[in-house]
Amino acid sequence: MNKPIKKIIIVGGGSAGWLTAGCIAAEHLSNSASSIEVTLIESPDVKSIGVGEGTWPSMRNTLEKIGISEKLFIQQCDASFKQGSKFIGWTTGHKNDFFYHPFMAPDGYGHINLHQAWQKNQPQSSFSETINVQSHLCEKHLAPKQMATPDYAAVTNYGYHLDAKKFAELLQKHCTETLNVKYVIDHMEQVISAENGDIAAINTRNNGNIEGELFIDCTGSASLLIGKHFAIPFLDKNDILFNDRAIATQIPYPNKATPIPSTTLSTAQSAGWIWDIALPSRRGVGYAYSSKYISDDEAEKELRTYIAQSIGQQQAELIETKNIRFNTGYREKFWHKNCLAIGMSSGFLEPLEASALAMVELSCNMLVEEFPVDRKHMEILAQRFNKRFTYRWERTIEFLKLHYVLSKRTDSPYWLENKSLETIPLRLQELLTLWEYQSPSRYDFIQNEEIFPSASYQYILYGMGFTTNLRKLARKFEHPDVAKKLLHENKIKIDRYSAGLPNNRELIDYICQNVHKH
Ligand SMILES: Cc1cc2nc3c(=O)[nH]c(=O)nc-3n(C[C@H](O)[C@H](O)[C@H](O)COP(=O)(O)OP(=O)(O)OC[C@H]3O[C@@H](n4cnc5c(N)ncnc54)[C@H](O)[C@@H]3O)c2cc1C
Repeated sequence: MNKPIKKIIIVGGGSAGWLTAGCIAAEHLSNSASSIEVTLIESPDVKSIGVGEGTWPSMRNTLEKIGISEKLFIQQCDASFKQGSKFIGWTTGHKNDFFYHPFMAPDGYGHINLHQAWQKNQPQSSFSETINVQSHLCEKHLAPKQMATPDYAAVTNYGYHLDAKKFAELLQKHCTETLNVKYVIDHMEQVISAENGDIAAINTRNNGNIEGELFIDCTGSASLLIGKHFAIPFLDKNDILFNDRAIATQIPYPNKATPIPSTTLSTAQSAGWIWDIALPSRRGVGYAYSSKYISDDEAEKELRTYIAQSIGQQQAELIETKNIRFNTGYREKFWHKNCLAIGMSSGFLEPLEASALAMVELSCNMLVEEFPVDRKHMEILAQRFNKRFTYRWERTIEFLKLHYVLSKRTDSPYWLENKSLETIPLRLQELLTLWEYQSPSRYDFIQNEEIFPSASYQYILYGMGFTTNLRKLARKFEHPDVAKKLLHENKIKIDRYSAGLPNNRELIDYICQNVHKH
C-alpha cells in the first residue's frame, strides 16, 4: 500500500539521533500545517558512545537551522572554536614535523590555484602558512571571530570542539521543549514487521508497540535495525584503515587561564595517533590505534607518556581512561525498505579528520530536502541516498588513507605497512600519479557537496612534502601576477588579523558571561 509518510520513529538518542530529530522537526514541525510527527526512543540501559568532540564548520549551519543560539550552545556544551587540525609527527616523526589542514580554502580558491605560485615564490615556507592566514592564528590560539561578530558569522571559517554528552542533552532539551519531538525513554525489545517486509513498529519494554512509516536507525554501533534486523552487510575496511581501538580520557587544566588551542592536535604514535581537543573546562585526549600492531597496555603507556608531557608523570598515571573498540567500515546500504541508518549504525571509519558528525549532518540534509511523501516516493529516494552516500564513504576512506600513504615514517611496521600497495585503494593510487603532474583540482572531485574538496587534498599533500612537478611555462589561467599579489596580501593579513582577533579563551569567556544579555 502506498502509505503517506507521517510518523517518523527514531531509535537512539546519541548525537546522531538528536541531530536527526532536530533537523526533521525544525523543517516540518515549525510549520503548523505539517502533519509530520517525530518520536525518539532511547534506551535507559544503553549508554551512547560519549566521544566525538570535533565538528566541521557545517555544524554552524545545522545548529542555526535547528534554532539553537550559538552563545547558548557554547555555554551549555562546554564548546570552543576549532579552525582545523594540526598534524604533528606524521611525515617524519622528527622534531618540528607538523602541518596544518585549516578549514579555510587557500586564498582565491576556485578562481586561482596557488600551488605553483607557492613553489616558485616561497618554497622555504610551508604551503598552509603561505596561502592563507589561518594556521598563523591557530599557532597563537586566536579565535576565528571578534566579540561583536554575530552568532554563527565568522572572520575565518570555523567549527567546534564540544562535550558530546552535553551536546546530546542540549539537543534533547531543545527538540522536546521547542520542536515538539516526542521522547520515549524505553528499551527497544524487537522489530515488528509488516507483510511487505517493512518495519511496522518498534516493540518496547514498557510502551508496547510504537508504529510509524519511516524508521531511523540511530542505535550506534549496535545497528539494531539496518544491521541486526535487516542484516545489511557491513563492508569491513580495516585492510585499508588499520585503526580499530581507542583509549579516551579527560585532562584538567593546571589553571583557568591556560590557553585553549583553536585546532585539534593530532600527534602520530607508533601504531596510530593521539587526538588532543581543548574545551573551555578540560582537554579530551585519546589514542586511536590498531590492535594488530600494539596491545592495549602498550597503547595506554604511550598515551600516558604523551599526557605526562603536559601534566607530569605522576598526575598522568592517575588519569582514568576508557577503552573503546570500533569496526572500520560502512553498510552496503543505508536506506533499506522504510528504514534509514544515520550515525554509527551506518558505519564508522576512525576519528581522523572528525568526519562522522559531518556525515550525520549530510544525511540529515538529504533526508530533509528529499523527504519522502509516500512509500512509492521513498523507494526512489532510498536508491538516490544509497548511491550518494556510498560515494561519500569511499571518498572519505581515500582521504583518510592519504595521510598514512604520504608518511615517510619507518619506525614501526604500522607505518610501513600502511604504505604497501595492496592496502591503498586503486583510485587513490591513480590520483597520486596524476598529482605528480598537476595539483588536485575540481576535476578530481566532481559532485556538488564533495565530502572533502580538492583544497583539503592540497593541504595534506603539500603539508606532507608531496611534489607536484612545476610546469616550465606558467599557464595563463594560473594568473601568476594575481597569485603573487595574493601571497603578498596574505602577509599583510597575518599581522592585521593577529592584532584584531581575541584569543580563544577570551572570546569564550565573553560569550559565557553575556549569554543571556542578547
Ligand atoms: C574514538 C572515537 C572518536 C570519535 N571522534 C569523533 C570526532 O571527533 N568527531 C566526530 O564527528 N565524530 C567522532 N566520532 C564518532 C561520533 O562519536 C559518533 O558519530 C556520534 O557520537 C554519533 O553516535 P551515534 O548517535 O550514532 O551512536 P551512540 O552515541 O552510540 O548512540 C546510540 C543510541 O542508541 C540507543 N540504543 C541502543 N540500543 C537501544 C535499544 N535497544 N533501545 C533503544 N535505544 C537504544 C542508546 O541508548 C543511544 O542513545 C568518534 C567515535 C569514536 C569511536
